[in-house]
Amino acid sequence: TKIGIDAGGTLTKIAFWDETNELQLLSFLSSNFKAVKDWLDSKSSLSSICLTGGRAEQLKKFLLSQNDIPYIVEFDATMAGVMYQLKHDGIRCEKAIIANIGTGTSIHIMEADSHSRLGGTGIGGGTLIGLGSALTGTKSYEEMIEVSKKGSRSSIDILVSDIYESNKLPINGSLTASNFGGVALKSIENRTKADYLAGIQGIIGEVVASLCIQSADAHGVNDIIYIGSTLENNSLLKEIIESYTILKQKNPIFLDKHGYSGAIGALLES
Ligand code: ATP
Ligand code: MG
Repeated sequence: TKIGIDAGGTLTKIAFWDETNELQLLSFLSSNFKAVKDWLDSKSSLSSICLTGGRAEQLKKFLLSQNDIPYIVEFDATMAGVMYQLKHDGIRCEKAIIANIGTGTSIHIMEADSHSRLGGTGIGGGTLIGLGSALTGTKSYEEMIEVSKKGSRSSIDILVSDIYESNKLPINGSLTASNFGGVALKSIENRTKADYLAGIQGIIGEVVASLCIQSADAHGVNDIIYIGSTLENNSLLKEIIESYTILKQKNPIFLDKHGYSGAIGALLES
């Protein structure tokens, strides 16, 4: 069996071909390399592994492998995985901005066969679980995203229309003027955990999307591909990113395998 492993800051993702040549994907917490090792040990016919991700070296040490395990640079693996999925899903896209919303967020440009890193932000999936647990006490990712879907951002954020009221609006009134500004300036009410979590999703989606939109404008690109496990089962974050990207006249693209681009890219190299 060939296996690609992306050991990231939070999650270790694995991609491999099964007996029938179907792509299989699974993930473990990067704080639990033991589970990764146990899974690998349970695989009888291991032919080749290729590693990628920021924690690849740590995982390699943990596995105490006799053979040197090949390694591929994270960004190369991610791009290879994105290209593979675009082709597989029949999405035509020659030039795109790519945002990988992992623990933090990394932003790239892909053009033909080349790619380069444009920048990033520390606002990412780690922010969702970190701020989320600080504000609500909820620890589980799954619970956080489920609860956030029931929340309302109306008492959390301040919209442009909240400030301008009946004045002539200089920009779209539905844009957020201040994420979380409402907690200080709107004198109400009982804000629920769901509202706070929805507000955090708003920060992440809007910060990431606006950085991508600005990069797209600067480079004359129309397509923005959003990936990373932070999008896993996270329909609210997708909606926030999608609607903002469309409002700014760019084309948002989401890939089904969200967080697995790096692992798939490593698999293709294995
Ligand atoms: P980086 O690329 O920044 O090193 P990473 O590769 O570990 O980090 P991803 O796996 O793409 O990053 O995304 C991690 C994020 O995905 C988490 O911060 C969290 O928001 C979200 N997430 C999705 N599923 C889970 C899960 N089961 N447990 C914890 N976080 C999860
Ligand atoms: Mg990653």
